[in-house]
Amino acid sequence: MSKLTPAMSQYYQFKKEYSDCIIFFRMGDFYETFDQDAKTVSRELDITLTSRGKGKSGEKMPLAGIPYHSIDNYLPRLIKKGYKVAICEQLEDPKKAKGVVKRGVVRVVTPGTAIDSSMFENAANNYLMAISGNGNDFGLSFFDVSTGEFLTTQFSDSPPYDRVAGEVARMSPAECIICPSLAEDPDLSERLNELNIVINHFDTETFDPVNAEKNLKDHFKVSTLEGMGCEGLTYSISAAGAALAYAMDTQMRELGHVHTLRTYSDSDFMILDSITLRNLEVVRNVRGEGKSATILGVLDDTMTPMGSRILQKWILKPLISTSDINKRLDAVEEFTHNTLLRYDIRSHLSRVRDIERLTGRIVYGNSNARDLVALKKSLEAVPEIRSLQKEMDSEMIVSLTGQLYDFSQLESLIDLIDCGIVDEPPVSVRDGGLIKSGYSTELDEIRGMSRHGKEWIASFQKRERERTGIKSLKVGYNKVFGYYIEVTKANSSQVPEDYIIKQTMANSERFYTPELKKWEEAIISADEKITTLEYELFSEINSKISDYSKQLQKTADVIGKMDVLSNLAEIAVNRNYTRPAVTADCRILVRDGRHPVVESSVPGGFVPNDTEMDCSKNQFALITGPNMAGKSTYMRQVALIVIMAQAGSFVPASHASIGLVDRIFTRVGAFDDLASGQSTFMVEMVELANILNNATPKSLILLDEIGRGTSTYDGYSIAKAVVEYIHNKDRAGVRSMFATHYHQLTDLSERLERVNNYHIAVREEGDDLVFLRKIIPGATDKSYGIHVARLAGVPRRVTQRAKEILEGIENESSLGEKDNATRKRSGYTQLIFDIDRSSRKPQMYDPVADRIRNMNLDEMTPLEALNTLNEIKNELNSKEV
Ligand code: ADP
Repeated sequence: MSKLTPAMSQYYQFKKEYSDCIIFFRMGDFYETFDQDAKTVSRELDITLTSRGKGKSGEKMPLAGIPYHSIDNYLPRLIKKGYKVAICEQLEDPKKAKGVVKRGVVRVVTPGTAIDSSMFENAANNYLMAISGNGNDFGLSFFDVSTGEFLTTQFSDSPPYDRVAGEVARMSPAECIICPSLAEDPDLSERLNELNIVINHFDTETFDPVNAEKNLKDHFKVSTLEGMGCEGLTYSISAAGAALAYAMDTQMRELGHVHTLRTYSDSDFMILDSITLRNLEVVRNVRGEGKSATILGVLDDTMTPMGSRILQKWILKPLISTSDINKRLDAVEEFTHNTLLRYDIRSHLSRVRDIERLTGRIVYGNSNARDLVALKKSLEAVPEIRSLQKEMDSEMIVSLTGQLYDFSQLESLIDLIDCGIVDEPPVSVRDGGLIKSGYSTELDEIRGMSRHGKEWIASFQKRERERTGIKSLKVGYNKVFGYYIEVTKANSSQVPEDYIIKQTMANSERFYTPELKKWEEAIISADEKITTLEYELFSEINSKISDYSKQLQKTADVIGKMDVLSNLAEIAVNRNYTRPAVTADCRILVRDGRHPVVESSVPGGFVPNDTEMDCSKNQFALITGPNMAGKSTYMRQVALIVIMAQAGSFVPASHASIGLVDRIFTRVGAFDDLASGQSTFMVEMVELANILNNATPKSLILLDEIGRGTSTYDGYSIAKAVVEYIHNKDRAGVRSMFATHYHQLTDLSERLERVNNYHIAVREEGDDLVFLRKIIPGATDKSYGIHVARLAGVPRRVTQRAKEILEGIENESSLGEKDNATRKRSGYTQLIFDIDRSSRKPQMYDPVADRIRNMNLDEMTPLEALNTLNEIKNELNSKEV
């Protein structure tokens, strides 16, 4: 083995200690990476791979470096890809070092423990998750180091990992650590992998409940965890203790902004499991492209990052207490009535930056002066928000205002920052230019000395020009050579005796004099003193602000909630939403409901629909209709309206009354994915089993096609059995909607009293199909698959031939309990104009009737009325109805 340079032996020592990390090894102005790390960094960041010297094996050593000032561009990209990076800094000034420069790892950056602002693309929380557990009992902890939010929960999950996966999907942590007893379980890793969670290994000892409890008590300086609600919850404590240890281990410092651990139970909220969150596109769309086309995307026009985070939590954790929901709704309603106030509050909120994360960075010690100015500007908006808040009466807002009363303490921080920090400071805190004059007499004096020196230099130039007669003589400065007198070569002959040569350039020469040297030393020493003192003063201000981290976090929380409430009102007004009545019974009644996301994207305008569900007569809606008719949209709109209402938002409807739902289950065919390695049908059945085993009388079930992944007979039989099971004794009362293409199932409504048929109206116009998007009672007997295929552009020869084949099959036999002839006789219909009028009370959608209903006869002349009648008649004739 060849001999390593001292720096390289140092590097290998760190690499041994942090073997799971990429080491960013500071060398002068670069962070260098070596060996395998260099190859990874070059590949992932698309930077040049070079080689230099010799590595351990004596071969040329691969090397990839990034300039130290660009770390904010490169580091987040590596972290986002799931890598851990250990930052190894020079701990002494290389110029003053004797031998190899002293270096040390100052922090390890991981996806779940990031704190720098460059790491975050948006306002969303960035959680580290720790999982602990045994058998069917689990503890989860979620820790956002950037905001200081620290949560834990414990529950039993049988069979394992459904609830764990639900919580993981809801919180979408950036990184996860797992206790030793679960770390080896392939089922858990598989579930986490499916959800794209980065798993990292961590010291197993920290999960030990005794160690974990001690770690938590030491950090929070408490003698019991009772006040945090997790005393005795072994797995909660184990997970939280390990998460805290991991965060401290990577950050390598105390986390002074983490003031409390909150224990929550998922039974306090409506449960939305991972599948439902995905199917309903609650906060992320199915294409995995963030929040666009999701309910969060529609509802989030918040002004502050805190508001955005809180809104996401509210949507992901809808409440199940009518009084808590009504408190939110009251506040939103008050804002809807008071446009001016809402406008004012929102405009003040728009001045507020991410107080939570600013506080995190300030306490943590990696803030800069711009962060302090941002904090000052944010805090300046608070008194105005508070005084507007005081004009409001709703209980929740009054209570929030009360929480802002101790704000007087924070007002002193505004003064502190205002007196100390310049209004537009530079990014770096080490190069001076941050502190206002007048803040420190010592600083002002040194600055005076430096200024005096610079004035002397200016007058020296003038004097020397006169003395030497060289008009172009210049006194200049650069970082390496300091101050110099520059004379062009053309004037060399006029250079006086006492000039001492410093540097020869192509066209000029640079000199100094002993006097200039003396002043140079004075100026440089003053400037060095200034930057050091400015940094000290900045750190002092920073630490004074840190003492208020608790109040700052509380203020951020109040501001965030005000933001959410006023935002929900703004959205409600702009989108024409109504306040839902939220009741403890199980009736869901929606008039003119709309799908909050789809309504703004359909070109021809969205057709609103009604819903009536309860635990008795209207328990089970069996919905038929051709593909593309709007069945999925309709079912999802009902679920989304329920989620919105229980989150405290107004809803897209003209009237809504929502009987509380404790959990929404969905099974949606469209997202069958084979990536998990299970067959489509298996996935479908696993999801179905979960629904049938866990639904409670307060749940809401949405089934969008069941049994499609197997043979028609199998699928039909399973679908039928499912309807019976949900309807019958065990599950009596579970509000359910089932969209199916098995028309034969619609017979069930005759046998099962709480099952009702609905279909989405379409109209056949010759070979064409017109979607009317209206849900109406009654069943349909036709799939219109061939019509839809034609609409999709399948060649006419294929659809024509398919039609012939279909006719052949229909003439021979048909699947199910009725043959084609009987079906026709039974009065099922897919056509709005053929509705069996003897069936249940038809709420038909009839464009003609609608037009007549909407005519204002009082304002029409007899001639206009006659003309309109004529138009309607022509229209009807042209449709040959
Ligand atoms: P299905 O589940 O019956 O196949 P979808 O619910 O997927 O149909 O709806 C198909 C398309 O129809 C949607 O993408 C949407 O563009 C449109 N659509 C659905 N419902 C409505 C409605 N109520 N008003 C207007 N357009 C609608």
